[in-house]
Amino acid sequence: MMNKKGSLFIVTGPSGAGKGTVLAGLSRRLSNVFYSVSATTRQPRPGEVDGKNYYFKTKEEFEGMIARGEMLEYAEYVGNYYGTPEGPVNEMLEAGNDVILEIEVQGALIVKNKRPDAILVFITPPSFDILEERLRNRGTEKEEVVKMRLEKARSECSHMDEYEYIIVNDVLDEAIQDLSSVVRAARCRSTQIDIKLV
Ligand code: ADP
Ligand code: 5GP
Repeated sequence: MMNKKGSLFIVTGPSGAGKGTVLAGLSRRLSNVFYSVSATTRQPRPGEVDGKNYYFKTKEEFEGMIARGEMLEYAEYVGNYYGTPEGPVNEMLEAGNDVILEIEVQGALIVKNKRPDAILVFITPPSFDILEERLRNRGTEKEEVVKMRLEKARSECSHMDEYEYIIVNDVLDEAIQDLSSVVRAARCRSTQIDIKLV
């Protein structure tokens, strides 16, 4: 049995919802999933590695990538550019891997418009209070950036109903299990399976 082309998943959620944590859990559980590495103009956080977490770019470099048509989508988020280089996404899908884009709402809707087959998944915290607690405890952003991200969270969550799946990240293991179920169910669609019984 062979899987045909991979499926494209778009995972969105407000900053601090736990997207990175849930996706790290998924990567331990499922193989044949490629996590797209985005380009960004934001500064690396301590421990972040260029080419692994992000491709860290200057504004000029990023604008060059846009001008050369290299981006599947891009958006501005709290003062920085973020975007998805298209080449690796296409290569991985063609090779039969599922591909996950972890991107914010504007970019998600651009991709869905270009590729209606993409599967939209929203990861939400159980409440805004818990979101704030997680974001502050993570301790990776300055107070003014935390405030901007929390403000942005409200408008991002207002788009939740435009997504095909909503995962509430309350108990971490359950959220990982839910996302894993979404990916596995997509793999079982008849359009994805190439099987000849002998
Ligand atoms: P995002 O990628 O959405 O910005 P992170 O994955 O960095 O969010 O998670 C934000 C913080 O919340 C991290 O410190 C992480 O350890 C914590 N966290 C994530 N999921 C849970 C959960 N289900 N319960 C408690 N804490 C969580
Ligand atoms: P962070 O700075 O916390 O890593 O990311 C900030 C926001 O940018 C998150 O909502 C994240 O999902 C989003 N993001 C990361 N990469 C991309 C991308 O390539 N395109 C878009 N549109 N958003 C992205």
